[in-house]
Amino acid sequence: MNSKNSLVLFDCDLRIKDNPALFNACKNHQQVALLYVLDEKNKRPLGGASKWFLHHILQSFADLLQRKLNLKLVCKKGDVLKILEEISEKNSIDEIYLNSSFEPYNVQLNEKIKIFAEKKSIIFNIFDAQTIFNPNQIKNGSGTYFKVFTPFWKECLKNSDKISESLPEPSFDNLNYDLKIESDNLDLLPKINWADGFKGLWQFDYDKIIDNFNNFISKKVTNYKESRNFPALDSTSKISPYLHFGVISSKLLFLDLIKRERSDGLTHFISEVGWREFSHHLLFHFPQFPEKNFRPEFDNFPWQENKVALKKWQKGQTGFPIIDAGMRELWSTGFMHNRVRMIVASFLIKDLLIDWREGEKWFWDCLVDANLANNTASWQWVAGSGADAAPYFRIFNPSLQSEKFDAEGAYIRKWVPEISKLPNKFLHSPWLADRKTLEYYGVELGKTYPQPMLSHDAARDMALAIFKTLKN
Ligand SMILES: Cc1cc2nc3c(=O)[nH]c(=O)nc-3n(C[C@H](O)[C@H](O)[C@H](O)COP(=O)(O)OP(=O)(O)OC[C@H]3O[C@@H](n4cnc5c(N)ncnc54)[C@H](O)[C@@H]3O)c2cc1C
Repeated sequence: MNSKNSLVLFDCDLRIKDNPALFNACKNHQQVALLYVLDEKNKRPLGGASKWFLHHILQSFADLLQRKLNLKLVCKKGDVLKILEEISEKNSIDEIYLNSSFEPYNVQLNEKIKIFAEKKSIIFNIFDAQTIFNPNQIKNGSGTYFKVFTPFWKECLKNSDKISESLPEPSFDNLNYDLKIESDNLDLLPKINWADGFKGLWQFDYDKIIDNFNNFISKKVTNYKESRNFPALDSTSKISPYLHFGVISSKLLFLDLIKRERSDGLTHFISEVGWREFSHHLLFHFPQFPEKNFRPEFDNFPWQENKVALKKWQKGQTGFPIIDAGMRELWSTGFMHNRVRMIVASFLIKDLLIDWREGEKWFWDCLVDANLANNTASWQWVAGSGADAAPYFRIFNPSLQSEKFDAEGAYIRKWVPEISKLPNKFLHSPWLADRKTLEYYGVELGKTYPQPMLSHDAARDMALAIFKTLKN
């Protein structure tokens, strides 16, 4: 260990365990300073829900660093390059340590940080910590990246013995190196308190986050393959925001899960974590993914600009109960069940013919787990414009999806209380009930609950006709 000064720069790697940048800085240096920068200039600005989540998890992480390692986390807001410049003027920094992220903004930014470090004769150390594999490590038979999930995931599983061991927590014997710079107020909480409903739904205590996940694995994962499709059941892990912010290491998670005794549920769960890996693989190799159709034949798609319809979808006022339930769950909790994400996305793209990028943007702003790779890949998957995407003719019928996956209506009744008294027979499609029946249950379509904003059958025919004109 030497007495030089090292700086660890955090991003979506807010953890102590299996954090190679933190571990190596602490191993190699006695003097360690920790910095988190909220950089909205060089990166896509975070959405409101992500900011809310980040506020809480950062506080908890800073507390953990202090308690476990006696190290202080300095938080700054602004252009990371300018902040590093300022820090290096006031301090002598010998080495910078950071974990790479494979999002295009970060790839470019890390390159700039590397150049900055070289100019200042600072040693630059970069590690992989966002995914299980480095996206360049997994290649197909022709030596390029995979565009189809199943062979990609087979290759990952085949290479699982090549994954290096995960890293322990660093030891406690480092000294905090004083950065001579004040922490900023990151101002992450909303001015109008729309996030009140998020409270209590998300855990920020690091030990309890792990306890919750272990609880999911011991009690729920066996039935995961079937139960994951039913939004009224609390049957998925809800680890997506923790994976996004790097509170949980995906590598550590994967290495732990593949050692366990297998059930169909566990195998399926591991493969869902594989979809996360695949999305990051795609984004790394096709960095235009968030803006550009992966399949260029979609470039001429005649998307409709319809602000009124978009607003109804965003606010959960479409008149289709399962869509409205999902959009309201999203607004109230910062989360939406995966099955419902697929249904509402299909509705926006294929019933309303609104560009998938509008949906991606709204999810980006509203999800606590908003993740550039997963969000983009999933929206393009539903649109049919992505890699290994759902075929264009797969158009979800909201009523049938609802009857199948929320048969008893518990999910709809929770989020759309104005129709909660309707019997199951009419709950999924209230417009099928006659006026007298609706009146009996206290529902007046167009007044207490919206009329359906379109005919799904007509919208479906229109979408199919348009999709058929796209050239392959
Ligand atoms: C339109 C749309 C947008 C989405 N946007 C995001 C997003 O911004 N961020 C995000 O993390 N996920 C996104 N997903 C994927 C998925 O819905 C969420 O990962 C999942 O619902 C999170 O809940 P969970 O942690 O309980 O999942 P679980 O079912 O417990 O799965 C465990 C983990 O596997 C990964 N995973 C599961 N399904 C997928 C998938 N289809 N694609 C990629 N990874 C997956 C996630 O990391 C998840 O946390 C989106 C899906 C759709 C259809």
